[in-house]
Amino acid sequence: MTAPRTPSATPHGLRRDAVIVGGGHNGLIAAAYLAQAGRDVEVLERDAIPGGAVSTVERFPGHRIDRGSSAHLMIRHSPVLDDLDLAAHGLRYIDCDPWAFVPATDSAPAIVFRTDLDATCASIERSCGARDAAAYREFVATWTPRAAAVMDAFYQPATMGRFGRSFLGLGSTASSARTGVIGRRGGEMLNLTAELMAPGDALLDRWFDSEHLKAGLAWFGAQSGPPMSAPGTAPMIGFAALMHRIPPGRAVGGSGALTDALVSRIGADGGQISCGDPAVSITRCGDHWRVETASGDRRCTPTVISACHVLTTLDLLAAGGFDPATIERWRRDIVVGTGIGMAVRLGTTALPEYQGLPDDLPAHGVHSALGLLVTDRSHLVRAHSAAAVGELPPRPAVVAMSFSAIDPGLAPEGRHAINLWAQWHPYRLAAGDWADAGAAAAEAVCAEVDRHAPGFAESIDHRFVQTPADLEEELGMIGGNIMHVEMSIDQMFMWRPTPDLAGHRVPGADGLFLAGASTHPGGGVTGASGYIAAHAVLRRRRLFG
Ligand SMILES: Cc1cc2nc3c(=O)[nH]c(=O)nc-3n(C[C@H](O)[C@H](O)[C@H](O)COP(=O)(O)OP(=O)(O)OC[C@H]3O[C@@H](n4cnc5c(N)ncnc54)[C@H](O)[C@@H]3O)c2cc1C
Repeated sequence: MTAPRTPSATPHGLRRDAVIVGGGHNGLIAAAYLAQAGRDVEVLERDAIPGGAVSTVERFPGHRIDRGSSAHLMIRHSPVLDDLDLAAHGLRYIDCDPWAFVPATDSAPAIVFRTDLDATCASIERSCGARDAAAYREFVATWTPRAAAVMDAFYQPATMGRFGRSFLGLGSTASSARTGVIGRRGGEMLNLTAELMAPGDALLDRWFDSEHLKAGLAWFGAQSGPPMSAPGTAPMIGFAALMHRIPPGRAVGGSGALTDALVSRIGADGGQISCGDPAVSITRCGDHWRVETASGDRRCTPTVISACHVLTTLDLLAAGGFDPATIERWRRDIVVGTGIGMAVRLGTTALPEYQGLPDDLPAHGVHSALGLLVTDRSHLVRAHSAAAVGELPPRPAVVAMSFSAIDPGLAPEGRHAINLWAQWHPYRLAAGDWADAGAAAAEAVCAEVDRHAPGFAESIDHRFVQTPADLEEELGMIGGNIMHVEMSIDQMFMWRPTPDLAGHRVPGADGLFLAGASTHPGGGVTGASGYIAAHAVLRRRRLFG
C-alpha cells in the first residue's frame, strides 16, 4: 500500500495533478490509470459512497442489492481489468452460463443461450426449428468479428479513421453483385455499413423466422434504450454473438465489487477519493483549473476529468464563468430522451420457477442468466409507444436476474436477492407523478415474472422500487436515463454527446477532459470513457511535459 500523498496548498486550494469530478466507475477507472502512472489524483464524489450506478448496498437485512447495474457484459472484453490488476484487489467474476433465456410460450419451450454455441443451437432447434438454429450459428460466425470490432472501437477515441480501420475486411460480399477487385471491396464496405446502420428489427427479419427468437434477441438489443425499429440498432443485437466468447460476468458480492476493487487499487497507488461533497463549479484560473465543492473546499489542478453527467459538467462550467451562450447551445444539442426504465429490487423466500425449461441445465438452472421475459416483439413496441406519450407500458418488458443462486452470499440462507429491470417507463408521466405511480408500476413488473414463473409474487418479502425519478434523485442520472444521454446512432461514436463535445474534450477549456456514459462509447459497465480520458491525459503530459 502507498500512503495518500499530502498535496500542497495554494490560494486556489489544494494542488493536485488531476481532479476527477464524479466517482462512478468511469471516473474511478480514469483515476486508477492516473494514480498507477504516478499522478497525484483526487476523485470528488457527490454521493456518500463511490461507484454511481456500479454500487451495491444492504437494502434489506442481509441482502446485498445493486443500486444500478447488475450484469457486466462489456468490461470483460476490455484491457481494463488486467491493466489495473483488479483481481489482486479482490475482484472475482462468475461466468453467467447460461447467459440468457427467453421464456417458454404456449407452443414452445424456453430458449436457453449457453456460452457453448452447440448447446444454444440445440435449444433454438427445440423451440424454433432447425432452420433458425442453423441461421443462429451463421449469425454468430458473421457477427462475432463485427461485435469484436465494435468493442475495439469502444476502447479508442472515436474518429472516422479509427472506426474505418476497426471494421476493415468485415463486410460481406455474398449479396454484392459488383465485380472487379475495387467493385467487390466497395460493395463489401457498402454492405457492411448498411448492416451496421440497419434497425435491429430489420436484422432479425433478415436472419430468422421465429418470432420467439426474434423477440428475445430484440429485447437483449434494446437494453441500451432505443427501440429496435431505430436505425443503427443492429449492432446492439449483433453484440449477442460475442457472449459465446466471453459471457456476461457477475461480480462476486454484487456489481459494486468492481467499485470496491477500484477504490482499493486507487488507494494502493496513493490516490484520494472524497465522497459526500459535490463539485459546484469548475473555474479557469490562469493556466490552472479551480474546482470548488459544496462545502467550500477548493482544488487547484492543471487537469480535470469530469466524469459525471455532461449536463452537470455544463452546469459546473457555467458556475465557473464559462461563456453562457455556448453552454446553452451545447445544452440544447444534447438529447437525454424521455427515460428508459425502472428497477425493482426484491428479497424473496424462493427463486422464480420458470415454466417450460429444458432438463439439460446446470444445477443453478437459468438463474445465472438474463431472463429476457419477452416472447413477441409487439410487447416491446407497445411498451415503447406508451412511454413515448408519457404512459406506463400496458405490459412492461422485464429482464429478471436471480444471481443469489450463483452467489449465495448475496442473501441470508434460504433467501434470494432478485433484480428486475423493466422498460420502457417515461421520466415524465402524462398524468400524475412517480410518487403515486411507482407502486403500481412495480406490481406490473413483478406480475411479468409471475406470468412465466407462477407463484413468484407470493415469495416476495422485501421490495425496493427505483422509478426514473428515483434514479435521477439517488444516482444523479438526469431524466432517469441510465445511459446519461440517448444511445441513438446520432449520439454515438464521434457524435457523442454532440460533435462539439465529442473527443472527450471541451472546446475552449484546455486541460478539461470528459468521461462517463455521456461520452463515447456511452452507457453500460464498460469503463471505456474513463480509460480513453486517462490515456488522453497521459499522452498530453508526455507531449507537453
Ligand atoms: C437501474 C440500473 C440498471 C443498470 N443495469 C445495467 C446492467 O445490468 N449492465 C450494464 O452494463 N449497465 C447497466 N446500467 C447502466 C450502467 O450502470 C451505467 O450506464 C454506468 O454505470 C454509468 O457509469 P458512469 O461512471 O459513466 O456514470 P455514473 O455511474 O452515473 O457516475 C457518475 C457519478 O458522478 C457523480 N456526480 C454527479 N454530479 C456530481 C457532482 N456535482 N460532483 C461530484 N460528483 C458528481 C454521481 O453521483 C455518480 O457517482 C444500469 C444502470 C441503472 C441505473
